Amino acid sequence: MLTRKSLAIALMVAGSTVAVLAQPAAQAAAKRTLVRTGHLLDVKTGKVFDGQTIVVVGETIQSIAPTAEVQAQAGDAVIDLGGMTVLPGLIDVHTHLTMNTDFDPYRELTVTDAKKAINGVANARTTLMAGFTSVRNVGAGGYTDVDLRDAINAGQVPGPHMLVSGPALGITGGHCDENLLPLKYHLVGDGVADGIAEVQHKVRQNIKYGADLIKICATGGVLSKGDDPQASQYTLEEMQAIVADAHRLGRKVAAHAHGAQGILWATEAGVDSIEHGSYIDDAAIAEMKKRGTYLVPTLYLEDWQIEKGSLPAFYHQKMVDVSAVAKSNIKHAMQAGVKIALGTDAAVYPHGLNAHELDVYVNQLGMAPLAAMQTATLNAADLMGWSAKTGALEPGKWADIIAVDRNPLDDVRVLQDVKFVMKAGVVFKGPRD
Ligand SMILES: [Zn+2]
Repeated sequence: MLTRKSLAIALMVAGSTVAVLAQPAAQAAAKRTLVRTGHLLDVKTGKVFDGQTIVVVGETIQSIAPTAEVQAQAGDAVIDLGGMTVLPGLIDVHTHLTMNTDFDPYRELTVTDAKKAINGVANARTTLMAGFTSVRNVGAGGYTDVDLRDAINAGQVPGPHMLVSGPALGITGGHCDENLLPLKYHLVGDGVADGIAEVQHKVRQNIKYGADLIKICATGGVLSKGDDPQASQYTLEEMQAIVADAHRLGRKVAAHAHGAQGILWATEAGVDSIEHGSYIDDAAIAEMKKRGTYLVPTLYLEDWQIEKGSLPAFYHQKMVDVSAVAKSNIKHAMQAGVKIALGTDAAVYPHGLNAHELDVYVNQLGMAPLAAMQTATLNAADLMGWSAKTGALEPGKWADIIAVDRNPLDDVRVLQDVKFVMKAGVVFKGPRD
C-alpha cells in the first residue's frame, strides 16, 4: 500500500493533468503504469474481483492479474486505487458537446461556429472529468464537432474519445432546420436536404467534411419551433436512401425519432439506433428487436427540465406532452427486450451530469443495475462499433478506467461522483484525499 505522498508522486509520474495536456496522446510513454485496484467490477458478469492490478502500456491495457503477481519494476508508475471500485470508462452515445444549455433560441442564433468550438472544448473536459471516456456526438453546426474530435485526438485539449456526425440531416421546416426567422432572412439549417438526390448529397458532404456517422431527424422534435414530435418528417424512401449510402460508405446512422410511425420507418430503413423513442409502440418494438436496432432513450433531461428548465412557450408544451408518456413507453420497450445504449442529449441539461441517466433507468424504470451499467459500457461500445477498443477492462482495449467510492451495482448514483479518470493510459483526474 502506498502512502499518500507516494500516491501523489505516482500520479505525477503518470502525468499530471496540466503536463499531459501539453503532449499528444500518441506520445504517451510506452512505459508501464500499474493501476492497483481495490475492487474491479467486471461489467460483463457483475462480478467484483478484489486486489487486481491493471498493467497499462501506452494507450492500452496489457494485462490484468492479482496484485501479488505483478511486482513493480524500475521505471513503472504506480497508481493506488485501494479501497475504490474500478470499472471501464463510461460511454454516452448522444451528446451535443458544442452546444450549451441555453433555452433562448434567438440568442442561440447569435452563436458563431468559433463560439461553438470553444463551448466544445469546455464541455469535452467536463464530460471526461465526469467519467465519460467516450461519446458519440450527434449533431453540431459548422462541423465544429469534427475539429473538436481532432483536437482531442491530437492532445491539444482534454476530452473523451469521440465519434461525430456533423450537422444532422433533416427536412425543410423540420426539427433539424432553423424555423425561427421569417422568409426574408433565408435561414436554413446546415443539414437540410429533401428528396433522394439531396439526402444522398448531404450524406456524402458530411462524410467529406469528417463525419464518423450520420444523424438524421426522422420525426419532429421538442426544442424546435412549429413542428410536431409525433409527425414523421423524412419518408421511408428518403431514409432508405440515407442508410444505403451511409452503410455503403462505412458509416452508421442514428435517427432522432419520437413518433411511432417515424420510429418504425427509420427502423425498417435500417438505421442503427433510434434516439429518444418517446412514442415507441409494439410494432416498432417488434421491428427493432427483429433487426437488433438500438434504442437510445434520453430521459434524465425531462427530470432536469421539470425541475430547472425555463423553455419558451413554443417548446414548453411539447416538453410537457412528451414527458407525460416517454418514460412509460421506454419502460415497456426495455421490458420487451429492445437493446438499450446510454445516451443523454447532454446540452439539453448541463454537461457533466450524464450519469444521472443511469439513476432514471434503475430507480425509476426498474432496470437491473448490471443491465444499466452495460448500457453505458458494452452496449454503447457495440453501437459505436468500438467493442474491440473500449466498453470493458480487458487486455488490448484502451486503458479507459474510472474509479468510484463504492460498487455502483449497489447504488448507481455513486457514478455521479467519479473520483479517478484515466483515458487511453493518461490520468486526467486523480482520487481526492
Ligand atoms: Zn440530441
